[in-house]
Amino acid sequence: MHEKIQVNEWISDRNQEEIIITMNAYPGLPEFDYVKPETFAEASQFLATHPGEARPFLGDTDLFVQMRDRAFKPKYLVDVKGLEGMNDISFDPSIGLTIGAAVNMNRVIASPEVREHYQVLAAAAQSVASYQLRTRASIVGNICNASPAGDTIGACLLLEGVLNVRNGEASRQEPLETFFLGPGETVLEAGDIVTSIQFPLPPHGLKGTYIKLGRNKLSDLSIVGVTVVGYPDPGLKSGYLMKLALASVAPVPLVVKQVEEILGENPITEEKLEEATRAAMEACTPIDDVRGSARYRKYMVRNLSLRALKEVWEQVSQQDA
Ligand SMILES: Cc1cc2nc3c(=O)[nH]c(=O)nc-3n(C[C@H](O)[C@H](O)[C@H](O)COP(=O)(O)OP(=O)(O)OC[C@H]3O[C@@H](n4cnc5c(N)ncnc54)[C@H](O)[C@@H]3O)c2cc1C
Repeated sequence: MHEKIQVNEWISDRNQEEIIITMNAYPGLPEFDYVKPETFAEASQFLATHPGEARPFLGDTDLFVQMRDRAFKPKYLVDVKGLEGMNDISFDPSIGLTIGAAVNMNRVIASPEVREHYQVLAAAAQSVASYQLRTRASIVGNICNASPAGDTIGACLLLEGVLNVRNGEASRQEPLETFFLGPGETVLEAGDIVTSIQFPLPPHGLKGTYIKLGRNKLSDLSIVGVTVVGYPDPGLKSGYLMKLALASVAPVPLVVKQVEEILGENPITEEKLEEATRAAMEACTPIDDVRGSARYRKYMVRNLSLRALKEVWEQVSQQDA
């Protein structure tokens, strides 16, 4: 028996036919060929010569679900997990943190350097589904899937993450700021393989938080996700830089620049925090879907942004006192 339902509300700006897909009551994966290249050159060449037919994968926690739901039907799945450096995680106090694309979220959460210097990334990863799922799910997969609901993306954006990308022998960097083009769409092209994400050393005194609202406490995608980081910045009139990113309330993960301006150019008061919160509410463009209405999301952006900004502001200002 087949039932027609809207499975991916975030594709709604595109061809309507794409959003209504046939859901099988007894789902299984469509047939595909498993490809395990030994080098980046081999992997890129295969992906580039089968555009639209071949996809790279890591933990496969997004791709398998989308294949089961028939959102994608790739002929080939290209396993890039075993390629050189993909499982490495390293921290250098003069450079920062590099997380290989295949490093799973539990390893990121457990890393002492991540916990010490990039705590907000650990908190965001911790909010993803369950321990079991996180033994497969990767940060890079979360990013490349380009869902507006990706829980770790806000932290990666605010911590100024940059993706290292290989295509055959060529390599380049893609800042996250310009990476997302729309729901499920990124600047990546056929043959591109993200090898790692790297973060600069965080500014001194950086504090952060991630607040996620889901339909239940565990294992649900966010209705709204709010990431905030803040740190002392003597170059600003207020003396502090406060940054805010939103999940699940726009076609792409959204950094609300007005928050930085409002809280950078004025002494930070209760009123200014509320003004920044209103700016976040106005900047987002949520939609109605099975997890919540657009109106509810807007109000939750306001409430949770205020809570997150206050929490981080308290920590940042107290450490300075
Ligand atoms: C039960 C369940 C619960 C979930 N809960 C959450 C949740 O709470 N929060 C959340 O944010 N997500 C959630 N997810 C979604 C998913 O687990 C995450 O997005 C995860 O981080 C994806 O990582 P992955 O390694 O499994 O990616 P994969 O599925 O392997 O890949 C994801 C996408 O990235 C592409 N890709 C993979 N590797 C590369 C590469 N090296 N270069 C270029 N492109 C690449 C793939 O082609 C695919 O399009 C959930 C999924 C399931 C099944």
